[in-house]
Amino acid sequence: MTKVVTIGEIVVEIMAVAPGNGFREAIELVGPYPSGAPAIFIDQIAKQGQPCAMVSCVGNDDFGWLNIERLRQDGVDVSAIRVHEDAVTGSAFVRYRTDGQRDFVFNIKHSANGHIGLTDEARAVIASAGHLHVMGSSLVSPGIIEAVLFALEQVKARGGSVSFDPNIRKEMLDFAGLRAALDTVLAQTDLFMPSGAEVLLFSQETSEDAAAKDILARGVRAIVLKQGAAGARYLDGEQDLFVPAFVVEEIDPTGAGDAFGATFLAGWLAGLDAETNLRRANGAGALAVGRKGPMEGTSTRAELDAFLAQQVSA
Ligand code: ADP
Repeated sequence: MTKVVTIGEIVVEIMAVAPGNGFREAIELVGPYPSGAPAIFIDQIAKQGQPCAMVSCVGNDDFGWLNIERLRQDGVDVSAIRVHEDAVTGSAFVRYRTDGQRDFVFNIKHSANGHIGLTDEARAVIASAGHLHVMGSSLVSPGIIEAVLFALEQVKARGGSVSFDPNIRKEMLDFAGLRAALDTVLAQTDLFMPSGAEVLLFSQETSEDAAAKDILARGVRAIVLKQGAAGARYLDGEQDLFVPAFVVEEIDPTGAGDAFGATFLAGWLAGLDAETNLRRANGAGALAVGRKGPMEGTSTRAELDAFLAQQVSA
């Protein structure tokens, strides 16, 4: 089976449920939870039974070990997650407003994540990878960009494949190296999985439909457009199909796109037809939104199969 590698940040997340716009009012705090978009993604890849590894860095502290142990228990090769003695594990403080909006306060740049780079262990897992998954939101440090571009070249040179989820928040576009890195990654991407209007960041076209078709014409093999509670669309030049999401109560949307994308990728690598695969990925997204905590909503193949079987009989 193809080994999947991803490179990027690990954080703990503390959630604040705040009714208004400020942190000064009464809030409920929960966490810390293991988190970081690429970490959630790779956790779901492992739970889907796909061999995988992550290149990252944490501090030698409880937050770091909480993450490493979770990923290890779930089946991720953690040999390239560096434990840095002089840096602390990154953190994210996420405020959930009652209208469903989320505000993020990140401590990533000045955390151990700033030390992610091409260690010997990173080179070793990249050498064993048949597929690279790139999270665009991770491309905000020179060390990560260098490691991702190196992995891109290595994996492609040996006939491997690349998937790419931009996962971009507006404020990130200020990072000087990001735009060029995103474009370089897209030019090498086989499976592109943006959410909502993100696809418009990668084309001169003004509609999502035209932008997706333009990107396919530029050589990307398949595109999955994640559309939140609506569902998801798949296009590959021959097929163009939409599968609606499952109707579930949304408890915590953080991580849904990662659980969805990892499940779709595992199915894509296994040669699953697009419609079945979209349904499975929608199922993983539904399970993820139904649980509090970003990585808490990842699901094994058995859990996902049980959920999907229930939907048929319901
Ligand atoms: P991202 O987190 O990357 O922005 P989305 O919000 O589009 O991604 O969610 C990814 C997938 O998770 C969706 O395509 C859908 O399958 C599922 N999903 C997201 N929100 C819900 C919801 N409220 N109810 C059911 N499924 C959902």
